[in-house]
Amino acid sequence: MKAVILTENKKMSIIDMPIPKINDLEVLLKVICVGICGTDVAVYQGHYPSKENVILGHEFCGKVVKVGSKVKDFKEDDYVISEASWGCGNCYWCKRAQPSYCSFPNTLGRTVDGALAEFVKVPGKILHKIDREMTNIDAQGVVSIATVTRVVNRSEIQIGDKVGIIGPGYNGLIMVQLFKQAGAGIVGVIGAANDYNRLDIASKLGADFTINIENNPDWQKNLLDSYGKMGFDILIEASGTVGGLLSCVNLVKKGGTIIQFGTSSKMINDLPQGVFYSNEITIKGSKGGYGLYPKAIELIESGKINFESLVTHKFSLKETPKAFEMIDKRMGDILRAVIFCND
Ligand SMILES: [Zn+2]
Ligand SMILES: [Zn+2]
Repeated sequence: MKAVILTENKKMSIIDMPIPKINDLEVLLKVICVGICGTDVAVYQGHYPSKENVILGHEFCGKVVKVGSKVKDFKEDDYVISEASWGCGNCYWCKRAQPSYCSFPNTLGRTVDGALAEFVKVPGKILHKIDREMTNIDAQGVVSIATVTRVVNRSEIQIGDKVGIIGPGYNGLIMVQLFKQAGAGIVGVIGAANDYNRLDIASKLGADFTINIENNPDWQKNLLDSYGKMGFDILIEASGTVGGLLSCVNLVKKGGTIIQFGTSSKMINDLPQGVFYSNEITIKGSKGGYGLYPKAIELIESGKINFESLVTHKFSLKETPKAFEMIDKRMGDILRAVIFCND
């Protein structure tokens, strides 16, 4: 089969390799399409460790080709999506039914080969059947919906809450839609520099306001003047920047909640420690969408989530290196790229 491997940071190669062999508990899938996620890009850039010559890609849909003898619920030709990772099953966290904290996680596209290939194998336990009517573009979005649903749940939003999202990436723009559906009173999106196109998309998807902080030094004051001096009930840091989190602290209401969603390995200076005490601010992380995949599929089936305006580029498998280069360099207003692996 054809597969795209990451040979070194920012270098990919298209190779021929054997179709993976499955064990009793695994399922072989023919990959239909893969959405490129920020985590794939972070691995590509070298910010996340991965196994040597890894095949990236963990947000995808496919058709079942072969089923291990102990896998009960799937058969050839089923249309499926896969969760992005699974726990070892044996560690402290897995035994507490919290596999997203697993000490030895299996992560598609990092510790095990992912889906940017004609075929991929995964354990049957992380597959979900989807309706044949669901488009490929919607199906590749299930992982993101599960992940963003966790953000919304962890925010413990109350009806009418004011929500600010810092970072209008693909997931930030999905958040706009889900926070609206969850009853937010106001959802605003804050971007920087070359985010103009993304902020336009945010408005079209229902954001009540957007702000580009570029050349706008008073943006925080202006924001509070316009949308309530007390601040925002919920702030989502979805940019993975230190400035993003500091802005959240400046904008959050007393007693409010900040969710760290953007991935980052940076250290933070200048965090006003006393504010956490006196204003009783809660900061939470939110990672992955464990346990929320069935709900994510139902949300997509409801037809109320718009992926079409988020998927800006489509590529064939052999164009994958070009797709990653474009995302890495933010070329051509690229937002979500989807790779079709068997066209
Ligand atoms: Zn992802
Ligand atoms: Zn584990």
